[in-house]
Parts: sequence; structure tokens; C-alpha cells
Amino acid sequence: MVSLANVYRSFALGHTTVHALMDVSLDIRAGDMVAIWGPSGSGKSTLLNVIGLIDKPDGGTVAFDGADVRSWSDDMLSDARNRKIGFVFQSFNLIPVMSALENVMLPLQLQGIADKTARQTAARWLQKVGLEQLTNMRPDRLSGGQRQRVAIARALAIEPEVVIADEPTANLDSENSRAVVDLMHQMNRQTGVTFVFSTHDQRLLDQVPTHLELHDGRLITRAQEAIA
Ligand code: ADP
Ligand code: MG
Repeated sequence: MVSLANVYRSFALGHTTVHALMDVSLDIRAGDMVAIWGPSGSGKSTLLNVIGLIDKPDGGTVAFDGADVRSWSDDMLSDARNRKIGFVFQSFNLIPVMSALENVMLPLQLQGIADKTARQTAARWLQKVGLEQLTNMRPDRLSGGQRQRVAIARALAIEPEVVIADEPTANLDSENSRAVVDLMHQMNRQTGVTFVFSTHDQRLLDQVPTHLELHDGRLITRAQEAIA
């Protein structure tokens, strides 16, 4: 559903150029559960921003559901992001003055869905992530692990094709990190939604079927490692 071919992305930094992604090719199929591992600065966020149609590469091609997105207007890109892609961030990005339920309702309301339906849908997703008792709590009353569950429910509520999660466990202890990866995997199996998440914690990789490794902007595949 998302394919990158020979993608490059660099940033000008004063007089130097940072090559954040170099010659990255990958294929993510519908229903996949993919972890992207790499140390800090290896290009994980840049890669997820390209996959999530937030950022455009300087070279190479990005295909979303088979369509080359280079020709897409900003409106088409933002429409695809709003309808087909759910985002989860390391800092949760919940709205502090809203309850868990209202946070999950928001993307549905932004799509023009009526409040009553949005409320029912949001409640259903909070139940799926195990937070039915806490729907009226504001984020500051929730633990980090609970906040990330709300963020995952919010990402899934629009029934996206893919959820992109940039280091969703970076602010969690190891027990909550494992629980969040378990939840993503469980949602992947139950709903068939594709998950792509990044992490610098190698201990989480044994929980997921597919890992990609980034080193200094280059993707190292296990097959290439075996050949090397
Ligand atoms: P990671 O998420 O793995 O920590 P990033 O994708 O954030 O890595 O960054 C990869 C490299 O690109 C780093 O050297 C970073 O400093 C650089 N970089 C990322 N975004 C920008 C930007 N907007 N401007 C300048 N440099 C950037
Ligand atoms: Mg990052």
C-alpha cells in the first residue's frame, strides 16, 4: 500500500547538508506490522514523515495505494492524510482541556461526522483499547501508557488504512512500552489496519514480525546483512 523507491531526503544545515535518507526502497503491504529501528539521528522520523505524506523526498518515488504521489496537490495530500492515515506521536499530542472521549471524537468531528455518532464511535474505540472506565478523564489524570492508548484509539477511530507511530514508546517505561506494542499488534490482527512504528529500543523488536533497520539514513535489510 506504500512503496518507496530510491528515496533521498536531505536538509541544508548552515553550509553543510545532512543526508537524512539515502536510497531508501521499501514496500509496506496492507495488513503489515512493521517496526523501523535505528539510533537517534538515523532518519526514522524523516522516513515516517515521507511514508505519512507529511514530507516530500528530494529524489525517488513514493507510491500510495499504487498512485505516484509526486503529482498530487497539497489538497490531495492532506485529504489522503486525513482520511487514510492515523498518526501517533512520542509525546502523545492529546488536547489537555478535552476528556479522553473528546480527544478521540475530534478527528471524526473534523470529518463532519455528527456528534452523537462520533461519541458512540469514540466510546467503542476506547473500549477496544481497554479504557472504557476512563473515558471522561483528561489526559493529565492518565498515566503515560493510558495516554498512548487514547492516542492509538484516536488514530484508529477514522478507520485509516495505515497508522504511523513515531517512537510511540519513547516516553514510557519498559513495561508500558511492551504493552503499547502489544496493543498495536492486537489492533493490527483484529482490524487488519497496517501499522508502521519507529523505535530506538531493540528490546521491542522481538514482539513484531517485520523490522527494518536504519543506519545513517540507509536501510539495512536482513537479507543484505546476510549477503555482506
Ligand atoms: P531520528 O528520528 O532517527 O532521530 P531524524 O529523521 O529526526 O532521525 O533525523 C535524521 C537526520 O536529519 C539528523 O541528522 C537530523 O538532525 C536531520 N534533520 C531531520 N529533520 C531536519 C530538519 N527539518 N532540518 C535539518 N535537519 C534535519
Ligand atoms: Mg525521530
